[in-house]
Amino acid sequence: RPVVTFDDVVFGYEPDRTILHGLSFEVPAGGHYAIVGPSGAGKSTIARLLFRFYDPWSGRILIDGQDIRAVTQDSVRAAIGIVPQDSVLFNDTIGYNIAYGRDGAGHEDVVRAARDAAILPFVESLPQGFDTEVGERGLKLSGGEKQRVAIARTLVKDPPILLLDEATSALDSRTEEDILTTLHTVSEHRTSISIAHRLSTVADADRILVLEAGRLAESGRHGELLRKG
Ligand code: ADP
Ligand code: ADP
Repeated sequence: RPVVTFDDVVFGYEPDRTILHGLSFEVPAGGHYAIVGPSGAGKSTIARLLFRFYDPWSGRILIDGQDIRAVTQDSVRAAIGIVPQDSVLFNDTIGYNIAYGRDGAGHEDVVRAARDAAILPFVESLPQGFDTEVGERGLKLSGGEKQRVAIARTLVKDPPILLLDEATSALDSRTEEDILTTLHTVSEHRTSISIAHRLSTVADADRILVLEAGRLAESGRHGELLRKG
């Protein structure tokens, strides 16, 4: 059974301006799925509909076979961990930011949480110690460091589905590659959906959906899409 299903979803923000024109796709469990397309194609709109910031005009969205209109937003949020492009961190320690926002969360709490969620390699790849204060009065993190903390914070909750909404798109390609490589080693058994505008970012996805102006232009593996041009 697919973990996410879009079934003929039609949606727009304003009357008379349709953004998604009857979009259908299924995300199978356990794989790495990617949605790519030019800016404005409707990629983030898909994420917003999944989280029920809006409801489709018509069509259905299912998570684990259940229509999301029949479940609470809390359970949707427990099922899907989202990492946006520009994450906001607390002005506190890295440990606090990762370990559920718990006060005084130090090295041991973070390591325990990371071990429980089987993401230790990812957490260990963070360049700073967990006691490092970040933000206004602390260390100013680079974009890549900040996104690593944001991804760790989401992974530690062990969501069955990880949704990366352009989570590494603003970073240089070397940093992006580093993060994605470590991320893949800890996400083998998790369903992930990567929203990206560069095809190269999602080269190892099991399936790539190419969205153009709110319609499915094509889908397949990276090599297949390149051959088709
Ligand atoms: P397409 O160009 O893909 O045919 P349309 O713009 O014609 O898409 O709209 C697709 C569907 O969405 C149509 O059935 C239309 O009636 C419906 N629709 C369009 N605007 C709205 C709206 N403001 N509220 C609800 N449904 C709408
Ligand atoms: P992408 O993520 O592929 O860049 P989006 O899903 O953010 O695209 O946006 C798709 C289209 O919807 C764009 O034309 C955008 O201008 C429009 N759009 C996005 N958010 C809103 C909004 N809140 N109100 C009206 N139009 C919006």
